[in-house]
This record gives sequence, C-alpha cells and structure tokens, in this order.
Amino acid sequence: MDFAHAWLDAEAQAGTHVVQFYEDDAFLADVVGRYSGDALLQGNSLVWIATAEHLESFGAALSRCRPSAETAGLLLQVDARQLLSTFMVDGRPDPVRFQTAVRPLLEQASERGPISAYGEMVDLLWAEGNSTAAIALEHLWNGLAKEWEFRLLCAYAMRNFPAGADGDGFLEVCTAHTHVVPTEEFSRLQTEEHRRREISQLQQRAQALEHEIERRKGVEARLTEALRLRDDFVAIAGHELRTPLTALGLLIQRLERTAASRNDPELSQQVSRTRRQATRLTGLAEQLLDVSRLSGEKIPLHRERFELGSLVNEVVARFADGGARARCQVTLFAPEPISGSWDRLRLEQVVTNLLANALKYGAGQPVALSVTRGLADSVLLSVTDHGIGIDPAAQARIFQRFERAVSADHFGGLGLGLWITHQLVEAHGGSIRVQSQPGAGATFTVALPLA
Ligand code: ADP
Repeated sequence: MDFAHAWLDAEAQAGTHVVQFYEDDAFLADVVGRYSGDALLQGNSLVWIATAEHLESFGAALSRCRPSAETAGLLLQVDARQLLSTFMVDGRPDPVRFQTAVRPLLEQASERGPISAYGEMVDLLWAEGNSTAAIALEHLWNGLAKEWEFRLLCAYAMRNFPAGADGDGFLEVCTAHTHVVPTEEFSRLQTEEHRRREISQLQQRAQALEHEIERRKGVEARLTEALRLRDDFVAIAGHELRTPLTALGLLIQRLERTAASRNDPELSQQVSRTRRQATRLTGLAEQLLDVSRLSGEKIPLHRERFELGSLVNEVVARFADGGARARCQVTLFAPEPISGSWDRLRLEQVVTNLLANALKYGAGQPVALSVTRGLADSVLLSVTDHGIGIDPAAQARIFQRFERAVSADHFGGLGLGLWITHQLVEAHGGSIRVQSQPGAGATFTVALPLA
C-alpha cells in the first residue's frame, strides 16, 4: 500500500471524506480503480459520480487492478454533469434538491452493503470558476454523511488552482475533508525520508516564491511610477512646445507675406519649406498632447451631421503636396454620399493619420481611399497602400501607445498616430482593423456607426 492509499488501509471507515488532488487523469483513474477494488474486497457497494470520460477510464482501471472483481449490482455509475444539473439553482447547489437527487442513489447502493462513493461534481464546479458552489456542495455532502454511513472520495485537478490567490480556496477545500492526499508528484515517493526531503524542498520553493513576489511588487511599483513620469513628461512637453510653435507660425506668416510682396520665388520656396516643417512639428506636439487628452475614461466628442466622403476628399486635397513629394498617386472612391453624426475634427484626424502613414510607409506607390456603406447602418473607410507592409506578429501591437514596427533609423515618428486613431474610432463606437503582409502593403479599415 503506497502513501496515496494509506488512508484507505488505516481509516477506511464510514464518515471518511477524502480529497485527492491530481495532475494527470490517468493517475486519477488509477487511484479510483484501486480505491474501488479495495472497497469491493471489503464487501462495499460502489457509487461513482463522474464525467462520462472518467467513468470509462475508471472502469478500465478497476478491471486492471482487480481483474476478477464482480461488480454486477455493486457499482452504480452516475453522470456528474447530469446529476449537477438536477440540483443547481442560480449557480448554487439547492440543499433540498440535492437531498432529493442524491438520497435515492445512496438508498439504492446501501441495499448491497456499506457505501464507498467517489464524486467529482465539486471539481467540475471549481473548473468552471464557481468555487463558492463547490465548497457549498462539499458541506452538503458532509451534512449527508452525518446521517448516512458512507465514505467518500473527491478529486480536484491541481491545474484549477493556478494562482497565488487560489490559496484561500485551496485551504477551504482541505478544511472540508477529513483526509487530504497530495498529487501524484508527492504520492509516488515511497519512503518517509523521501517525503521529508520533498517537503523541505517545497518549503524552500514556497519561501523563494514569496520573496520573488515581494521583489516583483517593488519592480511593478517602480515601473508604474516610471510610466506615470513618462506620461507627465509627454503632456508637459506637448504644452511647452505649443507656445513657441504658435509664435513660429506667426513669424512664418509674416515671412510668407514678405516673400510674396518681394516677388522672390527662391525666398517663397524656402519659406514654404519652413512652413511644412513647422506644420509637422505642430502635428507632433498635438500628438503628444493627445496622449493625456485621450487616455481618460470618456473622450469628449462634438458631434454634428456631415457627409464623410466630402470630408475625406478635403483631407486628400490637403495632402496634394505631400502625395506629390512621396510620389504617390492618391485616389478616392466614394460612390454615394454617406452622412452620419460624428466629430468632424476628430474624423479629420483619423483620415489624416491613416493617409500620412500610407504616404510614409508606401512612398512611390499608389494609395487608394474608399468610403462605402457597411453592414447594419455603418460606413467603411479604408486606406490601402502598396508599401512595406506589417509583420502579422506586430499588427495588434501597433495600435498601442508608442508602439512601432519599424526602426527609427528608417522612418521617423512617435508611434502615436494609430493609437490616437484607435481611441477616436472607439469613442465613436466604431472599430479599426488592418490587413497586411510584409512587403505587400497594408489596408486599414475603419467601421463607424452612422448614428
Ligand atoms: P508612427 O508612424 O509615428 O510610428 P503610428 O502609430 O502611426 O506611428 O504607427 C505605428 C506603427 O505601425 C508604425 O511605426 C509602423 O511600424 C506601422 N504602420 C502604420 N501604418 C503603416 C502602413 N501603412 N504600412 C506599414 N506600416 C505601418
């Protein structure tokens, strides 16, 4: 008799309520097979309440360990899921229904002798995340054991207690039983000395884990603080850049007028180049400011009714110079007017971000935009380029703050445009997705509800 079955040998009496933890289903089948074999030898009658798969494997295990055991009339097999469904009410086991469901089984089994039962309804509840119901059910069994002579073996899969926070629940399960048997890892150890060594090792590991958790909590706190400082810095940088940029804009305006009055094409060209860089800088500062503006719970939208195709057309027209510089022919397909109630400035920003990216990452190739009707009162805006494309592994990440899938040496940018776009589209109740393959361009599609 090994460790796992020692309790059977010494204290296999009525009123014993054992919990067996297990990792592998084959090990569990072996335990139940041997428990049942011993019970039959002792003239007990058996009740198995288990899943259909387990019932089958228990049967095979029993005939392996007691090939000549006679089970006719002595083994009652009950489907655990089906039995559970007869007494669960609103996610809890109903005490009266439980009695009504289980008593007849025990009555039937007791006609043939003392009862040895195995049950895993609690394990099913635990696996579903309903630990409260599992514990309540354990107590119902304990209540029943006060008036009925039977012994009960329960099993719980160890994989259902994966987190540190499961510790309290684990303890409650142990408390609800008269005997606790560890998983096969421990049960396989043959001598007391081996077990002492294993326990010492487990104690060392538990302590090391506790230290590690404390250390990680410290790291987490420092990382959270670092992120907060980053966000504060980004917001301050955005603000501070605004004032000199406004002044710079006014100076450029004056220079534009001077260049025009002097009729000096070279000066005009230089001033317009300066204007472009200043506009770019203003865009970057706005992105930095949007980091804090759009991080809140609710993004304020100023909705008004307008036609989306016209708005996209305006943005495309504004990009005439940019498109030419990127050597991209930009086309728009908007076969019918589609109006909705949206925030005009914010949608302008969405189109601007997607088109700017298409020109940046798809330079030298055509870029196609379309505005078409989608399903269920929605509109689809798509921007397609034939540029560098995006690795599938990076496609979800690029919608997050500061995330980029290119090297800063090759392409400038803050990694904020798509995050801002995503935030704005979601604030409108819409969604955005990307279809792309590396080297084969990218299509970003925004779906927006019309209302
Ligand atoms: P930025 O362009 O400033 O880096 P975005 O948030 O706009 O930031 O984009 C995030 C990343 O997504 C980019 O760094 C790039 O790797 C990738 N990306 C966005 N649009 C495209 C596109 N049209 N083609 C290829 N990659 C793109």
